[in-house]
Amino acid sequence: GRWGFGLAGELRQAAARSPRRIAVIDDERQVTYAELLDRSARLAAALPVRAGDRVGLLCRNSARMLGAMIGVATRGADVVLINTGLSGHQLDQVVQGQGLAALIHDDEFADRIAGVPHRIGGTQVDELIEATPAGLTVPPERPGRTIVLTSGTTGVPKGARRPTPGGFSPLCSVIDRIPLRAGERIMIAAPLFHTWGYAGMQIALALRATIVLRRRFDPAGLVADLGEHRVTALVAVPVMLQNLMDVSTAYRGLRVAAVSGSALPGGLATRFMDRYGDVLYNLYGSTEASWVSIATPADLREAPTTAGRPPHGTRIRIVDGQIHVSNGMLFEGYTGQDTAGRTEVCTGDLGHLDDEGRLYVDGRADDMIVSGGENIFPAEVEDLLAALPQVREVAVVGVPDDDWGQRLAAHLVLRPGERLDAEAVREHVRRHLARFCVPRDVLFLDELPRNATGKVLKRDLPRNS
Ligand code: ATP
Repeated sequence: GRWGFGLAGELRQAAARSPRRIAVIDDERQVTYAELLDRSARLAAALPVRAGDRVGLLCRNSARMLGAMIGVATRGADVVLINTGLSGHQLDQVVQGQGLAALIHDDEFADRIAGVPHRIGGTQVDELIEATPAGLTVPPERPGRTIVLTSGTTGVPKGARRPTPGGFSPLCSVIDRIPLRAGERIMIAAPLFHTWGYAGMQIALALRATIVLRRRFDPAGLVADLGEHRVTALVAVPVMLQNLMDVSTAYRGLRVAAVSGSALPGGLATRFMDRYGDVLYNLYGSTEASWVSIATPADLREAPTTAGRPPHGTRIRIVDGQIHVSNGMLFEGYTGQDTAGRTEVCTGDLGHLDDEGRLYVDGRADDMIVSGGENIFPAEVEDLLAALPQVREVAVVGVPDDDWGQRLAAHLVLRPGERLDAEAVREHVRRHLARFCVPRDVLFLDELPRNATGKVLKRDLPRNS
């Protein structure tokens, strides 16, 4: 249609077709599609920004956040989605790097950010909306775009400009592989500021779904919510599945549980499906490439560690061991840079394909460890150790070594009540992998350092700093 398929356009269409359907259920309220459209339009009219400005959003998942995202875009300004878990220093870098004209934030983050001309807290957002009459239309301008920050696991989070899908087909190619239906009841547990939660929301709006959002992830609360709101699809990150396995009651009403954002350990995939049913989809993607491949429950039953196959319209090439992607949804460049029109991106991830055309992500090229001249993929050692019954989580890194250049350090979190000693860990690796894959250092931790999307922050591990 005239509005394209940007967020604002998607909401407009959903509100036209299903005005009275509940769009969002969050910690504070329920809003229908008509109300969500009305609130975002009123906010758009009230915002002290101009078309082309960049407006930061520092919010936990809520209807207000979604309305603000769409309100900013309706105004013709670009939305910069900010990770609520960033450190003060990283936040300053983002504010400077993105040149924000305004920041919309949850009240709890009021004193996190300095140096932005306009700061609008959550309560004030509601007041602005209440004070603005409906029907004030903002002159039609170019729809605002969305800038999603990369996770910053390798340094400063980079702002990647997402293209506005020109039509329904890029979304369709993904939905095609996942049995989602119009009117689905979707819990988006992944943060909306991350590329995966954002993608989940685009899909949910396109399906005119009822979206359940919680400000915080709490595994027992999540299972209760799934039942109470009869949720049919869950959008999460892999570590959340791990936490769901610890909750004593499972929920059997899911038709789809889709995860992305970091590697899904093969053992976890199997255990999760044994408990919640064959409903698990593993999507591999990145902020820059959007989606790359999808593993269905059948794929995961046959090959639990696979990231699956590319959807229609996406092509994967392995070049020098690294995964290259082309599809219609590549990012258009980092802030201050324009790469629109490029046809392929290198993900920076190592990977290989099997005879059936299934992709395996072997970890980031930067994480590859070179010890005594041998290349070691930490993911291979991690997968092996994660399969030990005593082990809950594991991260393997290279640490500097005078003799070998680098040596392996394994960091393990054991399941409650389990015991394992360092030598048993080494012996297990020795039996299954090459000699140079045996970790010299074995450390036991209470938990692994993770960012807000559950990605392990390897540089924050004790033996990697
Ligand atoms: P930065 O570039 O700032 O360090 P990042 O690359 O971690 O951040 P994202 O775009 O959020 O930021 O993460 C994408 C990366 O996450 C992928 O390149 C890949 O390494 C990993 N990843 C995502 N999904 C999967 C998956 N299903 N299986 C394995 N790895 C995954």
